[in-house]
Amino acid sequence: MTTTCNTSSPLHRKSKLAKSLERDVLGIALEHGRRVGSEGHTIVEEYLLERLEQIGCEPYAGDSFCLTYMQDGELFTNIVGVIPGQDRSKKPLLIGAHYDSVIDAPCADDNAAAVAIALAVVELAAVNANLERDLVVAIFDAEEPPYFQTESMGSNRFYEDQMKSEGVHAALIMDLVGHDLCFPGEFLAAVPGVGPVLGKIPGLSKKDINVPFLSDLLFVTGTESHRGLVSIMGENNSPKGLKVLPTLNRYVDDMSDHGIFRKNGVPYLFLSCGRWQHYHMPTDTPDRLNYKKMAAITYYVCELMADMDTQEMDRTGTEQFSETLELEASQLKKILGPAHNMILKRMGIPSISTRDDMTRFVGSLLEAGM
Ligand SMILES: [Zn+2]
Repeated sequence: MTTTCNTSSPLHRKSKLAKSLERDVLGIALEHGRRVGSEGHTIVEEYLLERLEQIGCEPYAGDSFCLTYMQDGELFTNIVGVIPGQDRSKKPLLIGAHYDSVIDAPCADDNAAAVAIALAVVELAAVNANLERDLVVAIFDAEEPPYFQTESMGSNRFYEDQMKSEGVHAALIMDLVGHDLCFPGEFLAAVPGVGPVLGKIPGLSKKDINVPFLSDLLFVTGTESHRGLVSIMGENNSPKGLKVLPTLNRYVDDMSDHGIFRKNGVPYLFLSCGRWQHYHMPTDTPDRLNYKKMAAITYYVCELMADMDTQEMDRTGTEQFSETLELEASQLKKILGPAHNMILKRMGIPSISTRDDMTRFVGSLLEAGM
């Protein structure tokens, strides 16, 4: 099932959407950051409240988008709104991303980009009015260290204390979704035409090399959290302007706010372009993001949301966990094209036909610094 947009909005044009995403990133990625307790944090909070209002969200609970909580003497604020669906008796969908920054710097990719995409998805859902279920937009506080995976982490507090008892039907979480993908150079050396070039660029690191045919890659973990998601990911395997690579969450652990949903058996997807050389650095600035790629991710998430909306996701027995090897392997082959076999050969893996093969392949990539 796909969304056919019958209502027209400027956001239905990719160039307009890219501009709108950039505007939101600039509104969030302040020069001095938005660490918890900082002035920037308060300014961004205000900005987000205004945006949710403009988009036409309702507060998720009470009469404010701000869901505050105290933890260890510190005050935190999750910002949560809802776009009402056609059937409000159904469990809502949730889209989430954190807005705090790790250092006093813009942190554009981490995580202003994801917040901007979440706002755009919600805005499109409001315009299209195509979802049966409510769509909850949860902009979490305190994802970054020293709060990461602690009681203070915004998504943990939301799930345990602020979420309504009905829970959520499924969750989609994003982190680090604004940049072009870089690829470990040592594997690219195996690709014809790339290897010789690598050697000719003085000072070029073997890591973090931007390869045009892989720059639009997007990783998705969590497909394995429910078999309903396997068919959704299979149907949406070639989104325009993106290469989507599903992989197991356990290969990379709970890198972000999806952890609490995973631990509680909620079907979830986690989208990320992975770490890059500007990760947690002052150089993670708005000018380094790819807004066209972000626009493509926005449309892709809209499609996923529309399908998650109608997909039954019963959570009984062991069926909720699915083997996704076939999907992972076929996407990998499609994405790497002719380089697929060469890269495998370089890694000493004849083919990817078992889970062990895939685990070895991913292990080699992670070892190389991906
Ligand atoms: Zn971070």
